[in-house]
Amino acid sequence: MREPLAGRSDAMSDRELVVLGTASQTRVVPGRVALGGEAATENQVGHLGEADRDLRPWQTNVLRCMAIGIAKREPPARGRMMAGYGSKSADRRQLVASPVHRAMSETDTPLEMFESEELLPSPAAADAMERSLAVTRRHAAAGTVYDSDGMVAPGVVADLAGAGYWGLRAGAKYGGSGASFGVWAPYVAKMTAVDPWVAGLSSPHAALGPVNLIGRFGDDEQKQRLLPPLARGERLGAFAVTEPGTASDWGAIRTTAARSGGGLLLTGEKLFISNVAPGRTAGVLCQIDGRLTMLIVELPLTEDDRFRTVSYYLRAPRHITNRALIFDQFPVPAANVLDANGRSAAYHGLNHGRVLVCAFSAGILRLMAGTLIPWVQTRETFGAVIGSRELVQRRLGRLAARIVACDALTAWASQLLDRDYRGELECVLTKVFGSEAVKEATVDLLLKTHGSRAFLPGNLFSDSIYDLLAPTVFEGENEILTLGFFSSLAKARLASPGPGLPLAQLRPASTPHLEELAVAAAAELHGAGREIDSALHHEGAALAQHQATAVELAQRVQQAAVMLVVSRYGARQNDPLVRNAAACMASELGQRLSGSRPTATYHRMLTDLGAAVAEDRFSPVAEAPRGTVAMPSHVPDPRGRPDDRR
Ligand SMILES: Cc1cc2nc3c(=O)[nH]c(=O)nc-3n(C[C@H](O)[C@H](O)[C@H](O)COP(=O)(O)OP(=O)(O)OC[C@H]3O[C@@H](n4cnc5c(N)ncnc54)[C@H](O)[C@@H]3O)c2cc1C
Repeated sequence: MREPLAGRSDAMSDRELVVLGTASQTRVVPGRVALGGEAATENQVGHLGEADRDLRPWQTNVLRCMAIGIAKREPPARGRMMAGYGSKSADRRQLVASPVHRAMSETDTPLEMFESEELLPSPAAADAMERSLAVTRRHAAAGTVYDSDGMVAPGVVADLAGAGYWGLRAGAKYGGSGASFGVWAPYVAKMTAVDPWVAGLSSPHAALGPVNLIGRFGDDEQKQRLLPPLARGERLGAFAVTEPGTASDWGAIRTTAARSGGGLLLTGEKLFISNVAPGRTAGVLCQIDGRLTMLIVELPLTEDDRFRTVSYYLRAPRHITNRALIFDQFPVPAANVLDANGRSAAYHGLNHGRVLVCAFSAGILRLMAGTLIPWVQTRETFGAVIGSRELVQRRLGRLAARIVACDALTAWASQLLDRDYRGELECVLTKVFGSEAVKEATVDLLLKTHGSRAFLPGNLFSDSIYDLLAPTVFEGENEILTLGFFSSLAKARLASPGPGLPLAQLRPASTPHLEELAVAAAAELHGAGREIDSALHHEGAALAQHQATAVELAQRVQQAAVMLVVSRYGARQNDPLVRNAAACMASELGQRLSGSRPTATYHRMLTDLGAAVAEDRFSPVAEAPRGTVAMPSHVPDPRGRPDDRR
């Protein structure tokens, strides 16, 4: 006889349980999955055992590991989603309130914490967004987005200022249109598909950087004084953390602002800073009085002995400046210190920046689709266009799956931040997934499918390879981020361990049923929680020192969380192809997590999806510009001389 689980009766009363019975009785109710079982389900297990042969494989596995029980409650009405969790902001900012941690711990998995809503911008924000897209499209069509140095041209920056682009995230009081992050982040994906660098400028300006930092931590005087020039685009923003001696180890930050009279004198060097130049405004993480502090620095228009920038040829970002910043006793008003723990302020910026990395990924993957569609429709081999071949369709299906996954994660994580969740775990997994999806797509989908033409000038691969790979490194290299993710998770679990649920060894099959995939993902999160708790029990916090193990465990959690977010997002979509794309991504993650092989159903689902992309029927990529099919004899040698290397 098994011991009843502590607290189980609250979470899994008979009233709430729908027992998995025969296949026809089985009901998967969207909204909530309760996992656990044990004594309360003792008699039900017998009942289930009889029905074993009628169940789908994943259900049988659920049953075998006794992770059973689907709650009957209906999902909460739209608009109430996530709002019920931690009624106070201060509670939601705790790591233990994180959806990921809670899903790993609670018997009654709060699926709504993995959902997002369709949000509409205010009329003012919608106008500014549309105008900004129109400006960028106009410059793109005229070939005037970049100046003679290859940087986003001052004329474009000015036109975008007129359109309200730089003030999208600033409040109306400060000259902006006050778009929420949940509205703005998907918009950034849209802008990326028009021009990735125009979109990219918005991150150091308003996600990582000063618009966001001042908006969140500034007092009234700081907002009145510092925000309007940023919202009007008279000053663009930057975010300066990295130094020659450190990136992720902030304890090693040496840049210091010393008090002098009523002000501060800033000394130190920041490196690899995107969008920094004279006349811009930077959030600088530095030491003041021995404490990490976020200082807002309005850089002068001219350089001198006390302030200068150093240019070098960093190949990414291709059309945005990236320089070192050198200060030597540079005066900054003491009134520019943000009244917040510097570490928290920097994390706040990075959380938003990391979600935007995923938004950029959603846009970049669309650009890839735009270059591939005309190519696979035109290129014929062995008497048929390559878009009609399963191997190529499989690639296009995987691309579509990743686009929808990045959209899902962007919407989910941005809305969590709007609701004042801490977001540390969720933003890291969102960034890691988005940047790894682009890295993988760059080589396995874009390069392979374009073949030799990928190396021609004008091809997205050849022109932008550095930009396609850089997000795996900036805002934290992905493995070091995942290690940090594990440490945070371990801390939360040591503070608030799970209730010792049975280890679910679910084998999610490839299925088009998004509800089933969500159940499987929830079970994986539980299983991962149990595994981590057990490892922590043996090793304690020192487990994080076993980096290979820690990263592998954390990756499982990340993948299960992505699987859950994507399957919940897919379930609320009306477009059957978008639903299929979500199911393909969730199934692929399920296969990875369970080590199972793809089934024939999955292959068919994926290649059907890819065929739809090849035939230009996949609506999420409708607006991505279509590439031209290059013939080498038609592409001029940019060096202006015959290629004599052959
Ligand atoms: C295009 C681009 C734009 C950027 N823009 C900005 C910006 O605007 N502002 C800004 O502040 N910075 C910026 N950066 C800097 C960027 O954030 C850092 O480069 C990044 O965080 C990685 O740091 P690093 O290069 O110093 O790598 P390192 O920290 O030197 O890491 C090198 C390798 O060592 C591994 N490693 C390091 N420590 C450990 C450890 N303890 N255990 C195990 N492995 C470890 C890492 O995982 C990595 O694989 C930018 C960088 C690029 C490429």
